[in-house]
Amino acid sequence: MSYEGEFEDRISSFLRSFQGQKEGTEKKANERAVGGEPVEFARSRNRPGAWSERDRGAALFGDGRTYYWRQEQVFHSAVEKFALYLQLEREHYFPAGVPVPDEHRTAMAGFYSKELLESVRIVLPTGQRVSNPWFYSEAKAVGLTNLPDIAHKANVTFLDVIVFNEQVTRRDLFHGLVHAAQVRILGAERFAELFVRGFLQARSYFLVPLKAHAFALDARFASAAEAHFSVEDEVRRWAEDERY
Ligand SMILES: [Zn+2]
Repeated sequence: MSYEGEFEDRISSFLRSFQGQKEGTEKKANERAVGGEPVEFARSRNRPGAWSERDRGAALFGDGRTYYWRQEQVFHSAVEKFALYLQLEREHYFPAGVPVPDEHRTAMAGFYSKELLESVRIVLPTGQRVSNPWFYSEAKAVGLTNLPDIAHKANVTFLDVIVFNEQVTRRDLFHGLVHAAQVRILGAERFAELFVRGFLQARSYFLVPLKAHAFALDARFASAAEAHFSVEDEVRRWAEDERY
């Protein structure tokens, strides 16, 4: 049975809870609207690197077609789908997870807190690779390209569960743990929001700041595995500086 079927009840209750939160947020935003524009969108425009008024409505498309739509609705819907996807995959894989293997734990201890290492679960390769999200066909239909091919990645992190499609390497584990640290520090919803925002702005998976930071940190680890630093401090610094 697919996890969509298996988690049907969870999907509907999760959507209901999300809907409740969203209504609350929208109400608040409307009360404080600036020129009829929800506060959240006004705020996002003021962030460095955020969409400008000019490319609003065309940001999803790289091929010159100009579409106009209520961008914040598209954005919220994409964030909801992505957050739901992460949560359900996490639920699906968690029972099969094991703690960070002992042979890697000492190497990771110089970079991650004990709390983080103890909270994360690893799913070892089973021969069955993680499949791409159910919303990909929908995303492609609205013109989103460059979606990452999950099935061909060595491993993928679903909140606090790192699922390996391929044999566990120390660097891949380190990379997955960066994402787990980001989720732990930012919270799952903020992580999903920043990820989707980053993807829509960069139009490339690899340029999403959350991803780019993980690549930079795992490269630093690969070049000097003895030069310990706190990944969680790095993540907090990037979050405070609004670099995500
Ligand atoms: Zn990554």
